Amino acid sequence: MSQEEQEHESYDRYMVIVAHPDDMEFSAGGTVAKMAKAGKHVTLVQVTSGNKGTDRRDITSDELAAMREAELKESCDRLGVAHIEFFRIGDGEVMPDLELKERIVRQLRLHRPDVVITHDPFRPYALHSDHRGVGQSTVDAVYPTARDPLHYHHHLTDEGLEPHKTAELWLANPEAPDLYIDITETVDDKINALKAHKSQVGDGEHLEERIKERTAERGAEAGMEYAEAFKVIKMRR
Ligand SMILES: [Zn+2]
Repeated sequence: MSQEEQEHESYDRYMVIVAHPDDMEFSAGGTVAKMAKAGKHVTLVQVTSGNKGTDRRDITSDELAAMREAELKESCDRLGVAHIEFFRIGDGEVMPDLELKERIVRQLRLHRPDVVITHDPFRPYALHSDHRGVGQSTVDAVYPTARDPLHYHHHLTDEGLEPHKTAELWLANPEAPDLYIDITETVDDKINALKAHKSQVGDGEHLEERIKERTAERGAEAGMEYAEAFKVIKMRR
């Protein structure tokens, strides 16, 4: 076991914070399944319910959101996610503002994760504004806002939500990864979870090929068969 893996052994609580249903699965589904199988507690904070993510004209945003939340619950069952928090911000409407930061700080202080996984807000040319917004707000919530008691003192500290230090931030799909998680044992769980998102992947044709190709490329960078890649920021030292 590498030193890195030994360190991760000591982390019991993981939180994934992403913009759209299926973002967790595409960027970190194999990692989440691996952690859940190892007995780790994984919470998902789902910022939007993806209520604009379709080219269909015969469905409303509310109907789509309900459909996608049901797909996500099924996917989370397949991955072993223990708990989901829905923020239900509109798809395409995520703003990295004080309100979103406070909502994320609340989740951090409530669930107290050792590791937080989110979108990489520092990746150049990341096109989706929701990904940039969630990534930025999460990084800013983890450090230093959730940690220091005077932030949101009246709303949160007075409610008994004590400040919280996250040990590590893992930014998904970075340009220059420095952590590769071997998902050879769980790549099929990742694919199986993605298949639950029927409104997005249809009958899942070519999905398995696509996922195996992409995670094998990441794996090849690290001498693994299949891998997911992250940029790690360590904070609890
Ligand atoms: Zn997304």
